[in-house]
Amino acid sequence: MQGLMMNTPLLISAIAEHGSRFHGEREIVSVTGDNPRHCYTFRQAINRSRQLANALDNLGLDHGDRVATLAWNDYRHLEIYYAVSGAGYVCHTVNPRLFPDQLIYIINHAEDRWIFVDAMFVPLLEKISEHIKDVEGFVVLTDAAHMPETSLPNVICYETLIADESAEYAWPDLDENSASALCYTSGTTGDPKGVLYSHRSTILHAYAGNAPDALGLSSNDVVLPVVPLFHVNAWGIPYSTIMAGSKIVFPGPKMGDGEALCELIESEGVTLALGVPTVWLALLQYCSKAGKTLGSLQRTVIGGAAVPRSMIQEFRDVHNVEVRQGWGMTEMSPLGTINAQKAGLESLSDDDKLDLATKAGRGMFGCELRIVDDDGNSLPWDGVAYGALHVRGPWVCSDYFKLDGSAESHTEDGWFETGDVATIDANGFMAITDRTKDVIKSGGEWISSIELENTVMGHEGVAEAAVIGVAHPKWTERPLLVVVRAAGTNATRDELLAYYEGKVAGWWIPNDVQFVDELPHTATGKIKKIELRKQFADYAFPD
Ligand code: ADP
Repeated sequence: MQGLMMNTPLLISAIAEHGSRFHGEREIVSVTGDNPRHCYTFRQAINRSRQLANALDNLGLDHGDRVATLAWNDYRHLEIYYAVSGAGYVCHTVNPRLFPDQLIYIINHAEDRWIFVDAMFVPLLEKISEHIKDVEGFVVLTDAAHMPETSLPNVICYETLIADESAEYAWPDLDENSASALCYTSGTTGDPKGVLYSHRSTILHAYAGNAPDALGLSSNDVVLPVVPLFHVNAWGIPYSTIMAGSKIVFPGPKMGDGEALCELIESEGVTLALGVPTVWLALLQYCSKAGKTLGSLQRTVIGGAAVPRSMIQEFRDVHNVEVRQGWGMTEMSPLGTINAQKAGLESLSDDDKLDLATKAGRGMFGCELRIVDDDGNSLPWDGVAYGALHVRGPWVCSDYFKLDGSAESHTEDGWFETGDVATIDANGFMAITDRTKDVIKSGGEWISSIELENTVMGHEGVAEAAVIGVAHPKWTERPLLVVVRAAGTNATRDELLAYYEGKVAGWWIPNDVQFVDELPHTATGKIKKIELRKQFADYAFPD
């Protein structure tokens, strides 16, 4: 027997209309390339999205066509999110930090018809324009007064494009499973792969993100997404904020600028900020130098890479800010686990609470987890057994865009293989020990490179650290610690190795340390271990 409830489709345009109607006066503050502080309301944002939707229809696009963006986090980018998806097209956010050949590959693979681009990225497109011939035109995200000179063909100014359009628009009644947005994985191995989100997956993900033990947004929050809109939909923030009525503060091109972020947090009263660990390193360093504390900030959600224990402690003890670690992937929209406190664990000591906070967190309702051994058998949730992490749920990809067959990425029984290795404890807290391809296997046993990196980050002489496995005649592989020294410090090899004693198992301690000026990073700011392994391919441990 079927239930008797309405089958109303879950559509992104419904979030826009809800936000405009119920939170119309809520503010959106942006730093942009052409304005140090732009401020308007949800109602104005959605009006302009409707104007843009009219303009997009006039460009002669068909439903399902891809429209790309190459832009920082600001209000115009948000308008595009709602206009493109809401009108039935697919919003393809492109990462401007990609290398030119990756940009060419992605834009051509997605068959983008138009590209909306920040003025500062116009030169990037000029360099590759002869290789992306199928793109019909470019819209520069600025007003007529700030239009750059450009050799790009068929260029329109964003403000001119929408100026004469009506703010009335009848959003189409789409199938909730139709594609809404496209984002490519950073491609640390092989070509980048496209993950195609749907309206339904996006809305369910935003609902789940807004649960109190997840991001927990409310209309009282002021949210600073330092995670880029061009990387996995800024973890769903464009949707969850408008849904909840939270004020949004967009940092524009000031993403990695500790001083600018601190100023935005103070002046706008930010209560929740989100980003990868690297970003917070810059902010914490600035605050410590300038003697500032982050008064209004209540919590930060940090993910995309393991969060160092020392960072969680500094946020907690110096700034009175709760760190919620998150784990996920482009293929998962991206939220999978969030580390919020759990009832029954209040009596843990401060130290044990810190240890727990270094884990990736508990699975959210809607994202099932399992860990399996090499034969695919499920492993116990005891916090000790580790194995390949699989996930399943309505906001996890079922395949990649235009890559036929999901056999390589999915199991026969329908789980997505994340490529991460993890433990899960009896309370349901998952901890990533490594990516499958980064695991160090010493004498047949696994050593967690993430834990070794995390531990040494607590040493004041270390600015950044990576641990890779290097061939060893007796143990097959042993860990090598590669370190960027903190400015003005001079930690020695022996000092750093001694620092591990008592903190990790003796046989985990790296065999050697190499100091470098910088580590190679991917376009999303993660350490590029493949590159690092190449760099140290000829390295041999001292006898
Ligand atoms: P890509 O896979 O292209 O590098 P993603 O942003 O999708 O880009 O990266 C997802 C991966 O990042 C995860 O599979 C995991 O290895 C890593 N990751 C994300 N969050 C965490 C975390 N909290 N702790 C450890 N690793 C993390």
